[in-house]
Amino acid sequence: MKRIFAVLSLFLVCVSNAQQTDYVDFMRVEALIVFNQLAVDSTAYNSYEIDFKILKQTDSIYLDAVNMEFKHLAINNSKAKFRNDGKRLVVYNNFEKDQEYKLSFIFFNSPKKAMYFLGWENDGRNQIWTQGQGKYTSNWLPSIDDVNDKIEFDLKFLAPKAYKVISNGKLKSKYDNLGNTLWEYDMERPMSSYLVAVIVGKYNKKTETSKSGIPLEYYFYPEDSLKVEPTYRYSKRMFDFLEEELGFSYPWQNYKQVPVHDFLYAGMENTSCTIFSDAFVIDSIGFNDKSYINVNAHELAHQWFGDLVTAKSGEHHWLQEGFATYYALLAERDIFGDNHFYFKLYESAVDLGRQDIAGNGTSLLNPKSSSLTFYQRGAWVLHGLRSKVGDKIFKQAVTNYLEKYQFTNVETSDFIKEVERLYGRPLAGFANLWIKKKEFPVDSAFDLLKSQSTYINEYLMVDCQVKTSKCAEQLKYYVSDEAKVKVISQAPDLVTRDTFKNSLKVRQAISQYVKKIPKDLKADYETLLDDRSYITIENALYNLWDNFPEDRSKYLAKTRDIIGFSDKNVRLLWVVLNLNTPFYKADNKQGLYEELVSYTDEKYNADLRMNAFRYLSLMKACNDKCQSNLGQAKSHHNWRLVKFAKQLSEQIQQNKN
Ligand SMILES: [Zn+2]
Repeated sequence: MKRIFAVLSLFLVCVSNAQQTDYVDFMRVEALIVFNQLAVDSTAYNSYEIDFKILKQTDSIYLDAVNMEFKHLAINNSKAKFRNDGKRLVVYNNFEKDQEYKLSFIFFNSPKKAMYFLGWENDGRNQIWTQGQGKYTSNWLPSIDDVNDKIEFDLKFLAPKAYKVISNGKLKSKYDNLGNTLWEYDMERPMSSYLVAVIVGKYNKKTETSKSGIPLEYYFYPEDSLKVEPTYRYSKRMFDFLEEELGFSYPWQNYKQVPVHDFLYAGMENTSCTIFSDAFVIDSIGFNDKSYINVNAHELAHQWFGDLVTAKSGEHHWLQEGFATYYALLAERDIFGDNHFYFKLYESAVDLGRQDIAGNGTSLLNPKSSSLTFYQRGAWVLHGLRSKVGDKIFKQAVTNYLEKYQFTNVETSDFIKEVERLYGRPLAGFANLWIKKKEFPVDSAFDLLKSQSTYINEYLMVDCQVKTSKCAEQLKYYVSDEAKVKVISQAPDLVTRDTFKNSLKVRQAISQYVKKIPKDLKADYETLLDDRSYITIENALYNLWDNFPEDRSKYLAKTRDIIGFSDKNVRLLWVVLNLNTPFYKADNKQGLYEELVSYTDEKYNADLRMNAFRYLSLMKACNDKCQSNLGQAKSHHNWRLVKFAKQLSEQIQQNKN
């Protein structure tokens, strides 16, 4: 999984049912899930069969199943006794050691979480999608919350004909039946239940094939065909790179990536079927600002680390997130080069150091660690280890680890032992410093970076916190873009007309940090409105409008057709500035105000809605429609929007009193 905000602590608790794996091995599920357009948030008459083998004699077994109803329950086709407590389905029988059984039933449910129904009742953006990690698949599909029981899930879905249904594995067949379509998916290998997924929505797809012959399916909304290339850029290259780097073939039948509306995280690595936030669906200008590349590579790396080899418990969570973060970095290094790679490592070392200073650091083995620790410290462990034992040993050890533990569960020592075996020396000292200790070894990390990258040395030398004569020089002459950005952030008044001759990245820093625009930079500053960056355009439009009131009409006329990202960042600002420019009469102000209010509607994504609410509240113009949308946002599935809506409502209420 890839979180949008890194500060949250991720908890993956090993639940109390760990012991059932000693008694039963669940092997295969075959289920049919029925989405009925008439029932807006539920599934009904779903049929389910599960094959299992008894390892130790027992008189009952259970499945996790939240708020479901069951009918026609049978063991090997004979009616069986069961108990349903709303969380688990317990089935009673004389289960004999080494015998195989089939449990079957029909079930009904209205999931409250883990499966989300978006606008299913409207004609708008109808979507259903799932999120199993941290939420439990057992909220929509009877399964096993414990990650340690891996099952082959072969799922079928019945849905209205107008929709595509995408799930784990290979699409085996598809039948139209009256107004519905039956989609039959097939998995060949087992996975933990949290990785089961389904998406229902209106999609087209583009397919490429990896060097090794795996179909790579890129899904997109029908209206987004021009965004497919920039959104999925480098997908195949990263796929081929990871297979080669890991020395272990991609373990599943195909690889699908599906954007969804208002997703809970940046992305989620469901087995062979990654779901990601449609905020990453971008055009070729947006690509320069925020691409999907890192999330794309991260979720792809999880197909090995997490999906194929799964951590036994929350203590070892870094074996998933640390590996996914590190291999995403390696894939990016292959595309953007060494400097990019070292700069990312530098940034994460700085963040980890700060976390310790703030007193929030933890051992990497603490299951309550922050995402920063699991992801970035985890990646640093791998970089540190590789630097210590050398590329050859590191790569071979990772390949061996994947070979040995494929389709099973692991803990930290399993990985370290594989490296020790090839390295020939104990790594206890390394593990203690980098993994176990509460503090991140920030000095060792910096020493390593300095010994590996002249680029980082140069970056560290540039420092204009206290301005020196050197700083102005550094902006003029050759230092890296990142170093120039650092100078501009620390001393924006050093920017001259020449600074504008730099790259998109440096120009973006000008738009971000130079907020008071000197007259002699005005003409150059105006050229920022032509940059291929929506962030630069948004910043520059606001700063120019603010600094030069006499030219507001000119700036508004120039940027009137620019929309920006999927959260319409430029358009939203443009509407607000236009409404605040009374003498600019090119547009119908009432129409613009209505447009602004309309962006608070649930059909728009959470970021756009939050920004629209924020502007309307600043303008003290949140009308009845806006207030009603704000009230409704409080019960949205996205917790960020909920938190925001609650705070803003309170604030509006206080201002009234
Ligand atoms: Zn992840």
